Amino acid sequence: MATSFVVRATHAFDGQRFVPDGLQVQVQGDRIVAVRPAHAPLPVGLPVLDRPDTTLLPGLIDTHVHLVAGAEPDALSLDAGRSADQREQVIRQSLLQQVRAGVTAVRDLGDNRFAVVDRTVRDDEPSVVGSGPPITSVGGHCAALGGAVSGVSALRAAVAERHERGAQIVKLIVSGGAMTAGSDLLLDQFEDADVRVMVDEAHRRGLPVTAHAHSVSAVQTCLTADVDAIEHCTCLTAAGIHTPSEVVDALAARRIWVCPTFGRLPALPPSPQAIEVMRRTGMTLDARFAQVGRLYAAGVPLTAGSDAGIHPAKPHGVLAYAVGELVRSGLPVDAAVAAATSGAAEACGLATTAGRLRPGMVADLVVVDGDVERDVSALTRIRDVVLRGRSVVVSDSERPALS
Ligand SMILES: [Zn+2]
Repeated sequence: MATSFVVRATHAFDGQRFVPDGLQVQVQGDRIVAVRPAHAPLPVGLPVLDRPDTTLLPGLIDTHVHLVAGAEPDALSLDAGRSADQREQVIRQSLLQQVRAGVTAVRDLGDNRFAVVDRTVRDDEPSVVGSGPPITSVGGHCAALGGAVSGVSALRAAVAERHERGAQIVKLIVSGGAMTAGSDLLLDQFEDADVRVMVDEAHRRGLPVTAHAHSVSAVQTCLTADVDAIEHCTCLTAAGIHTPSEVVDALAARRIWVCPTFGRLPALPPSPQAIEVMRRTGMTLDARFAQVGRLYAAGVPLTAGSDAGIHPAKPHGVLAYAVGELVRSGLPVDAAVAAATSGAAEACGLATTAGRLRPGMVADLVVVDGDVERDVSALTRIRDVVLRGRSVVVSDSERPALS
């Protein structure tokens, strides 16, 4: 593909809203240089990628992935046994699967040591915002990734190390998690004061903090400690989901980004660990959708991160299904797609370059077959991907097996 070209589609989503009658987007080098109505005259002499019956969108952004995990059963524990070379192969494969699904940027929240943070993104891979290893308690959820610490000075040093090694966000594990054997989602891993120390140290260094929290008490700890974002935010109790009104109000008033980590291949069951949590607490998927709908209605900002890589129903490239589940939770389609584009860009610190079709933005584009506004599942039907101005060939055999 030439370095300068036009993509024209009959339907479009500009990052915030659907554009009636579609758009043409002109790319030069790695940037978008013009955005016009689809029916406007085409610039003379430029190649045109003309795509009738499609929707053109900004490249999608998955705000919660585990690139070291390759979607096998128990994928995160398999990582521990890999050599550095084997881990690099998994990371690269994960990134290529993401880009073939229209994802042009990912936020990696579960590195093993600094494998993802230390590597250089290649031309054919999505942009990466990385946290390094999640900071967890000794023996806690995800401790095998290398981020276990205890004691105030070690907590501070852990944040400092991430900053010095180039992490762009700090990830804290505040409650237990389903994917670590022996970990209990209902138990909390840090005191309020510990979380506060880490958040203050990160903020002093200019880094945002996101926290893994399932239990309602862990979510309350996150609010007390002033985190910037919460992953999962299930508000789980021994008797299912219970989200106090004051929690909902605080999340909305302080604009704390919540990533419900939706997104699962519908043909596959949830992980055995997730099924066990549902059995034990009585939590249901419908209750979860209702909770997220309530957060949206109250004005809580949401991102559509998928937690990709952790097991077979959540492979890399599953983000389109997370958007579908946000719609099922009651979000209007434009809000759900914004949670994977402009909202995700803002949450990841990428708002000046990604997430919108606007002149000056990096030319990350995706074209899907059909009209996303009428049928959000069109997001799974990838036609073209443009990554930093370069067209990525998506042959039929390479399309992600997403159903
Ligand atoms: Zn995760």
